[in-house]
Amino acid sequence: MLMSIGVCFIFSAPSGAGKSSLIQALLHEKFSYKIQLSVSYTTRQIRPGEIHNEHYYFVSKPKFKEMIKQKKFVEYAKVFNHYYGTSKNFILKRINSGIDVFLDIDWQGAKQIRKKFPNSKSIFILPPSKAELLNRLKIRAQDDSNVIVKRMKNVVYELIHFFDYDYLVINDKFKNTVNEIKKIINCEQFRLHYCRKKYILLIKNLINWKNNTC
Ligand code: GDP
Ligand code: ADP
Ligand code: 5GP
Repeated sequence: MLMSIGVCFIFSAPSGAGKSSLIQALLHEKFSYKIQLSVSYTTRQIRPGEIHNEHYYFVSKPKFKEMIKQKKFVEYAKVFNHYYGTSKNFILKRINSGIDVFLDIDWQGAKQIRKKFPNSKSIFILPPSKAELLNRLKIRAQDDSNVIVKRMKNVVYELIHFFDYDYLVINDKFKNTVNEIKKIINCEQFRLHYCRKKYILLIKNLINWKNNTC
């Protein structure tokens, strides 16, 4: 079990619910703490518009397996028949120096992260309806129809794990959802575990009250 100063915010959702778009929008918002996105390693094909090193590190299956052996991942999982993994080095460096991290990972990864970082917080995102989810997968137009059908079939497998999460958010009106998640993140930052370091001088000063002269 690893105790950390930075918080891991885990985002999971059925494919197409909007988690990547929400995370991107949140990264442009102002928070009192620094937050960075964990860029995962994956063996899936790069989509049009995706950038290696920015959206994912796209690697071959043998390379990924080699990285598993070298214990480079803090968690990894097989999703839609491809491997996805979170870099141990990236996460530890950030949270040990007080930087919060956003993780866009599936329920299997979330389970592993919760175990390793018990103070992490997880947010599950739901689409407003089945029809809207299908519509979003289609308008994203980055997967062919076979892949969309596969992802729709997988919805229920991701969905049934929502009860393991700390927060449940419906991504209906995009801006409202961003604001709702902002509230969750801001609230977390007032937890004693994180803010006592920030306010240690003030606390020491107040404790020494009776020694002070007016
Ligand atoms: P998306 O469904 O459009 O987000 O499609 P992606 O191919 O980007 O992601 C597929 C699934 O893999 C999603 O559930 C992601 O949250 C998950 N995923 C991405 N990176 C990781 C990772 O590093 N670890 C784990 N466990 N899951 C990941
Ligand atoms: P995920 O990462 O969960 O697979 P994306 O962020 O790629 O989902 O979103 C899927 C599609 O839905 C994208 O085209 C995105 O622009 C769109 N989208 C996301 N949130 C909303 C929303 N609240 N209303 C309408 N469209 C949305
Ligand atoms: P996509 O291939 O559409 O980008 O992602 C498919 C799924 O893989 C998404 O649900 C996403 O959350 C998940 N995923 C992405 N990165 C990781 C990761 O590092 N670890 C795990 N466990 N899942 C991931």
